[in-house]
Amino acid sequence: MTAVEGVDELRRSLAGPVVEPAAAEYDAARRGFNALIDRRPAVIARCLGPEDVATAFEFARARGLEVAVRGGGHNPAGHCVVEGGLVIDLSLLRSVEVDGDARIARAAGGSTWLDFDPATQAFGLVTPGGVVGSTGVCGLALGGGIGHLTAQYGLTCDNLVGAELVTPDGEVIHASEDENAELLWGLRGAGGNFGVATRLEFRLYPLEHVTGGALAYAGAGVRDALRRFRDVAAGAPRDLSCQASLSVDESLAPTLVVLPCHTGTEPDSELRALRAAPGLVEDGVGTHTFLEQQRVVDSAYGENRHYWKGHFVRELPDELIDELVARIMALGRPPGGILIESLHGAPKDADSSAGAVGFREAAFNISAQAVWLDPTLDEQSIEWARETAAALEPWSLGGGYVNYMQADEPIERVRAAFGAEAFDRLRALKRRYDPENVLRRNQNIPPA
Ligand SMILES: Cc1cc2nc3c(=O)[nH]c(=O)nc-3n(C[C@H](O)[C@H](O)[C@H](O)COP(=O)(O)OP(=O)(O)OC[C@H]3O[C@@H](n4cnc5c(N)ncnc54)[C@H](O)[C@@H]3O)c2cc1C
Repeated sequence: MTAVEGVDELRRSLAGPVVEPAAAEYDAARRGFNALIDRRPAVIARCLGPEDVATAFEFARARGLEVAVRGGGHNPAGHCVVEGGLVIDLSLLRSVEVDGDARIARAAGGSTWLDFDPATQAFGLVTPGGVVGSTGVCGLALGGGIGHLTAQYGLTCDNLVGAELVTPDGEVIHASEDENAELLWGLRGAGGNFGVATRLEFRLYPLEHVTGGALAYAGAGVRDALRRFRDVAAGAPRDLSCQASLSVDESLAPTLVVLPCHTGTEPDSELRALRAAPGLVEDGVGTHTFLEQQRVVDSAYGENRHYWKGHFVRELPDELIDELVARIMALGRPPGGILIESLHGAPKDADSSAGAVGFREAAFNISAQAVWLDPTLDEQSIEWARETAAALEPWSLGGGYVNYMQADEPIERVRAAFGAEAFDRLRALKRRYDPENVLRRNQNIPPA
């Protein structure tokens, strides 16, 4: 790769470090969560604040370099790294300030949930975030945000109340209900299309303990256990968020892991119903701190190859459950699986006027998650995810979850994720804040 001219000048003007291909830390700095993505950027600018971000944008513009933005590096599409271009890397811009009285947290642009949750829990407060600690707070929130507290407090983006953003022309702007409210609406779901968020502000709620963990089912009971999970979610309990993950074990038998997170004070009939479902082989549910709940799920960073594809569905009838069990048997090997996230409860409180996310009507988000190590399995793994997603189509509301989308999704899928009306509104916002579509390494909204 030919070196980019003027990198020394960039190094002098940036407060943070600049990483070039010859640097010892280059390979680690270009690595994202998904090992399927292997790109070599020309330069990685580790920005420490809005001025650095503006400088990096200017540097890329002057040299015609494509730009990628990196938060936690988790996006399965690998949008955080660009071949031959410039990465605006926020991984050193990690801090979380909490105003306990106002119940507001301010997260710097590269903060992860590993930064956020301990900071807010020091005040006995939470916001609904993601289930894996190393995921970027801003990346996740800007695409929606589904996790252990979704039923109780809504999507992460529903709790986004303010933002500081650097647009590609280097302007620093703020968004809140009182200032650039249309931009705040767009930030609630339309990802990093409008600028680099150097700070996001979130509403907080008092919560320190939950009853949660994992319930594991195996063998012939799995189908009925999944039906039980569906029936529990259909009752829309506000104090119980719930996700399920279908996979196969080493013996190639189907397994189901259900992840309840209950925050009520009363003994919970839904938890009892889940525990009584057929096929239960392990009951890891108990009362623990919220920080312990946030450690229930983890995922190796940068090791496995991933390809995810899914749909928001309006219902989960028995017929679809049969289809999912058949699809997991077709996978025929661990790891990987089918993730089913319930969207009952608080996400339904807001409507399309609150934010750009377009999936509030959905009952569940169902994602085929192909995960593998061996590159010779690329084609067959990707095919399995695509075929599994295709099998969901009869129940689909039309769009997929932008936070889980690969880079090969057509624009129709992105449009469907928001709905035609919201998509047009987002395109007008894009024209205003990023008319040249500098920020196109994302689930892209083309400028109107
Ligand atoms: C293991 C794993 C677990 C996950 N768990 C959840 C979950 O529980 N709930 C959920 O809803 N999603 C989850 N996700 C999906 C995740 O929310 C998205 O992939 C999200 O894009 C990750 O953000 P990131 O900053 O870590 O990723 P990156 O790859 O660094 O960023 C992805 C994109 O987000 C944008 N972006 C990131 N930071 C900024 C910023 N500060 N300003 C502007 N744009 C920015 C950019 O467009 C960037 O290219 C998970 C993903 C993985 C791989």
